[in-house]
Amino acid sequence: MFSMTDFCIGATMACAMGLGGFSTYAAQTGTPVADPDARYARFPLYSGGDLGVTINGDKAYFRLWSPEASAVKLRIYKNGRGGEPVATVEMEKSQGGTWAASLAPVPYGKFYTFQVQYNGQWLDETPGVWAKAVGVNGQRGAIIDFAATNPEGWAEDHGPELEHINDAVIYEMHHRDFSIHPNSGIANKGKFLAMTEDGTVTPLGDKTGIDHLKELGVTHVHILPSYDYNSVDEANLPANTYNWGYDPQNYNAPEGSYSTNPSSPSTRVREMKEMVKALHDAGIGVVMDVVYNHTAQNDDSNFSLTAPGYYYRHNADGSYSDASGCGNETASDRQQMRDFIINSVKYWAKEYHIDGFRFDLMAIHDTETMTQVAKALKEINPSIFIYGEGWTAGNSPLPVERRALKENVSKMEGIAVFSDDIRDAVKGHYSDASDRGFATGKPGLEETVKIGIVASTAHPQVDYSKGNNSKFPYAASPEMIINYVSCHDDLTLTDKLAKSMPGSTEDARQRVARLAQTIVFTSQGTPFMFAGEEVFRDKKGVHNSYNSPDSINAIDWNLKHKNASQFNYYKELIALRKAHPAFRMTSAGDIAKNLRFDKVSSPNLISYSLLNHANGDEWKEIKVVFNGSDASQAVNIPKGEWLVVAADGELNHTGLVDGSGSPRYTKGGKLEVAPTSALILAKTDK
Ligand code: CA
Repeated sequence: MFSMTDFCIGATMACAMGLGGFSTYAAQTGTPVADPDARYARFPLYSGGDLGVTINGDKAYFRLWSPEASAVKLRIYKNGRGGEPVATVEMEKSQGGTWAASLAPVPYGKFYTFQVQYNGQWLDETPGVWAKAVGVNGQRGAIIDFAATNPEGWAEDHGPELEHINDAVIYEMHHRDFSIHPNSGIANKGKFLAMTEDGTVTPLGDKTGIDHLKELGVTHVHILPSYDYNSVDEANLPANTYNWGYDPQNYNAPEGSYSTNPSSPSTRVREMKEMVKALHDAGIGVVMDVVYNHTAQNDDSNFSLTAPGYYYRHNADGSYSDASGCGNETASDRQQMRDFIINSVKYWAKEYHIDGFRFDLMAIHDTETMTQVAKALKEINPSIFIYGEGWTAGNSPLPVERRALKENVSKMEGIAVFSDDIRDAVKGHYSDASDRGFATGKPGLEETVKIGIVASTAHPQVDYSKGNNSKFPYAASPEMIINYVSCHDDLTLTDKLAKSMPGSTEDARQRVARLAQTIVFTSQGTPFMFAGEEVFRDKKGVHNSYNSPDSINAIDWNLKHKNASQFNYYKELIALRKAHPAFRMTSAGDIAKNLRFDKVSSPNLISYSLLNHANGDEWKEIKVVFNGSDASQAVNIPKGEWLVVAADGELNHTGLVDGSGSPRYTKGGKLEVAPTSALILAKTDK
């Protein structure tokens, strides 16, 4: 998320309680001290796993962390919104700054809120920060039987096993973009259940939905925010609104608008699990986009309504600091917030079998928190991986050296960051639509592309002082780098090329897209692509489409027919990467030893070899040449028997074939590399 959200309207319920304010507890806050961190550091902490509601036998137990409350009320409702409470319970002060209550029998199907008295005032009602099921628009927590939400076979369900993150091929997808278009042939458009539909096709007969993903060959789907977010009115789905979802409301419950019935708390839980199960059954993992760095609301957020001030960072004048660009930033450096993040991702991993997490604006969090996140998740499932945006959207009170920045990635364990180095070098700067990159003929970016090729690790032939973005090898391992040329943010690759190549043909732009993605998918590190690029989808030139209508964001799947050769190229490119571990080396030392750049001096030309059966590859040597110029360029290839894998905008992972169907070979020597294309050759001898 790199974009501003503009929805700060109150979603909290109007509080109609007229009898508040009569507490038997003295106010505990005392006189505010000058340093809020010193005050917060004295708060009692609670790390138990029973915050929110837990059920044991015939009793429901409620627990809320609210160390400065002078009283807390629990209310039980019949419905997810509206109506009077059917019960009101005074909660009791308990250990670690918590308040507790229990009810018997378990009020299954009912809803609950907490209300905190703070500084003599009754705050608005809130489901708390640990609601795992919620009613419509997330205003009340729900008491449901989670075991009853599990799809058939859930106990045996698991995602793909993954030894190294760079064995993954990540596909970033929004639920609506992917299925909402009439041409998707999918019944549950814009819903979690879209992924559970087999056999869907376009009117022209091309596969869509989960069958499309299987055909493409990606290993992991990265779903844009799917926790309960604030902006879309779940009570008015026919309004057909769209949002990316970077406006968190309830972190531990699924978003209602992606379910078939947002008023039924168990439906959204079950349907999200069914989506995960269907993807797992297809051998595809699920990565969740998580946005713990800020909340949609400030004083009215669930954090603020339970422990005012504590969960956020502030400026010296007491105002919210805003490293997210969305009005506030959370404080992962405070223990209860750190625990919240760790316990929340653990919950998604265990309850929903999530296989990976993508942290939005990760540098708002501290490096220690992120290392602990990775450690906790790997204990649950060693195949889980974590990556994030190694930057902030504004300044933060958190010292730079503690931020989970891209440049600090080597201070963390088990965390990867997006490489904006390769992104901007290949296609041109993200924020300047007309700026070109290596693949669109702009000279001088060769060294930055090489930084991307070696996954920002130290390499004897790469001069980091010539890098456009980072000036030092910040990654200790290629497993710390996510390579990409576009994502949901900014212009799609299709739109970026249209804006930076005025007067060009679509064929020319598709050729650039193929070269750009070939650089990404053959580079060391982990490749990441934006959904629909394989069919050359666009967003009509809208770069910040976070709340644009479906007419902008939907993928028109008839493009798969129109751009069939583009789709086939992507499919072969992914197959090439998956078949050849040389593109997936796991240590900086291996890359330094086995990846050798050739001396070429022309602009927009890069040539290198992967040597020595790198990383156990069956191929002895792979020669990779990128020509980003719109003229052909000559390279000298050592004499030998080379299988031609890619040339002149075509690629086949088992080798190109000639007119008679025989494999194409070349003897090397001086070869012409066609304009805007990759040449990939392989020495297949043992
Ligand atoms: Ca919602």
